[in-house]
Amino acid sequence: MSVLTDLIYGGSNAVAGLTEGAVNDAIAKYGADHPIAFPDTAYYFPTIYAATGVKVKTLGDLSACVGVLKSLITNQEDLGQALNAGLATAVGAEIIEGLKYAEGGNPYENDSGIGFVPDPIIRSLGVPLVTGDIPGVAVVLGKAENAEDVAKVVKDYQSKGIMTFMVGDVIEQCAEAGVKMGLEFRVIPLGHDVTSVIHVVTVAVRAALIFGNVQPGDLAGLLDYTKNRVPAFVNTFGAIDAVVVSAGAGAIALGFPVVVDIDLGENQVPGALESVCDHNETVKKSLELRNIKIKVTELPIPVAFAAAFEGEIIRKADMHNEMWSSKNPTAELVVMRDLAEVEDHKITIIGPDLDAEKDLALATYVEVAGKKMQVDFEAVIERKFHAWFNYMEGVMHTGQRNQVRVRVSNAAFEAGLRLKDFAEVLYVMIMDEFDAVVDKCQITLITDAAEAEKFRDEIAMPRYAQRDDRLASMTDEAVDRYYTCILCQSFAPAHCCVVTPERLGLCGAVSWLDAKATNELDPNGPCQPILKKGLIDERTGRYEEVNRMINEATHGAVENVTLYSILEDPMTSCGCFECICGIEAVSSGVIVVNREYKGMTPAGMTFGELASCTGGGVQTPGFMGHGRHFIASKKFLYAEGGIARIVWMPKELKDDVAERLNKTAKELYGIENFTDMIADETVTCDAEELMTWLTEKGHPVLNLDPLM
Ligand code: SF4
Ligand code: ZN
Repeated sequence: MSVLTDLIYGGSNAVAGLTEGAVNDAIAKYGADHPIAFPDTAYYFPTIYAATGVKVKTLGDLSACVGVLKSLITNQEDLGQALNAGLATAVGAEIIEGLKYAEGGNPYENDSGIGFVPDPIIRSLGVPLVTGDIPGVAVVLGKAENAEDVAKVVKDYQSKGIMTFMVGDVIEQCAEAGVKMGLEFRVIPLGHDVTSVIHVVTVAVRAALIFGNVQPGDLAGLLDYTKNRVPAFVNTFGAIDAVVVSAGAGAIALGFPVVVDIDLGENQVPGALESVCDHNETVKKSLELRNIKIKVTELPIPVAFAAAFEGEIIRKADMHNEMWSSKNPTAELVVMRDLAEVEDHKITIIGPDLDAEKDLALATYVEVAGKKMQVDFEAVIERKFHAWFNYMEGVMHTGQRNQVRVRVSNAAFEAGLRLKDFAEVLYVMIMDEFDAVVDKCQITLITDAAEAEKFRDEIAMPRYAQRDDRLASMTDEAVDRYYTCILCQSFAPAHCCVVTPERLGLCGAVSWLDAKATNELDPNGPCQPILKKGLIDERTGRYEEVNRMINEATHGAVENVTLYSILEDPMTSCGCFECICGIEAVSSGVIVVNREYKGMTPAGMTFGELASCTGGGVQTPGFMGHGRHFIASKKFLYAEGGIARIVWMPKELKDDVAERLNKTAKELYGIENFTDMIADETVTCDAEELMTWLTEKGHPVLNLDPLM
């Protein structure tokens, strides 16, 4: 047997032994009926569930799994067989990690890592992954000989937007070297034990179930999905023992190449297991192996610029400047001009710079011109300011329009960051991302309070008002085309959103205007126009042309889709939806649940459980993923009676949409404060109690026909 297969089997057998022992001990301690589950997931023990279809619910269920695990370890020389043994190690790791949760509570409380990654986080990663905002996923594990080596590699991934999961001593090594960690920084410490690497594996596995419509038990389909659609790879640091090698074999079986920093000589497997001993080459080689291309935008500014800094928080103590609408006037505005009116790359600053005063006003005024520019794209560009400003290391941005807050850290200021850099960022990014419509761009930043106030009141506010009027008048009836969006097909190959003025994409990130702009920027890209032809049924929003386009876009996977019904050919979901609505049988209403809500619902299911009922581009009448903004639309569940069906929402979501939802209810039914009739978790999560409450409130759902 080769050294490599020897090591793999050695590791797999060791893990199998440990797993069996741990399961037996746990059963002896708690009993075979003791329930067991990872927190906040609808996919049981995800690896076991996806690979075999077995739903582990009790400790007793694990005994059979140990048998399956052992059967995967054949001890045969063949590399394919050895990779199966690697999968056995993954299953063993999942069981050992799962047992940590047997007592309830958070076993990772005192670990440097976070342990199991809940379903909603995976769903929230859908959009950044498909847009290439997160171009890949790195798994970094072990203990580097020199801490700086691993810190440098991880920082490099961070600057490229790669999501990094860490296991083992590398976590402390990176923390000590000042790597910023957390989901918002795209560097996630999983745990100290090597078995905690399973927590990133189950992310990939659940992606296949959530987005890919891979059926539980379809191991070949699962491996195909992870190999071709999850752009992950592994870097190990330091010496590797048999367990790490067999875990690595599991990664390779899933299609994730492994790069080690020790010399494996002839034991290397080209494309799957490679040695890179020079850490300056680790990142390059890893990206190459997964064919991940990084788009670099060169920016002439003194701080780093990367999506990984988007979630950075700057506390008061670290703050050098603040531009905040509560203290000083602020505004952000993009305006379309004639070509002759704009001087390209002209930057004007009116008022004091960051070194002159701590608290400043800030009007960010961008004038663009281009032969293909349209007024409708102004807001699309303007909305990107938020991300771009946040990408600067040491800059925090919240809000939009005239309600803005920008903080600049002491470190960024000391590095030399000044207002002209803000302007440069806007210029470079606009010319980069919107080059198909913007030919010229000039930028004016106003920090003089009186001037900024004048700009806000006389130029910006009237423009916002104009836009709002246009948006309000933009109904599905008022336009001649809708758009497809197939961005999510890289993860959900059978899914396509139909985006209309009143129904934005289910991720919440693509409005009709965005889709229109996307089509203009990239005519052969993910958003294609659907001309509004061939109306079949107005009530459900059924069009021949929509069907034809959806058929084409999904390669025949979806044949008929309606725009406004949850029961009759509802729109499909990829998995990254902001909210899910589902039928509540007792009241014949629907509940709407947002991804952030962790509790129970009157349907007897959590968000994660509801969400798992649909997805992967499959139509599931009775369940539908959608964007937050759609809830207050007159088209929401139009075919089933509209928003009058909504009987329950988590409080946070209800408060968020209340103003618009109440306005719609007033217009449609003449009901004041409709949201007062909608229950939430502070009222009840029980279906019978909900019914009593709805009756007390005289909720309009009681006058509608039963749904089924
Ligand atoms: Fe994905 Fe639909 Fe959003 Fe497009 S609109 S990014 S397909 S969820
Ligand atoms: Zn999606």
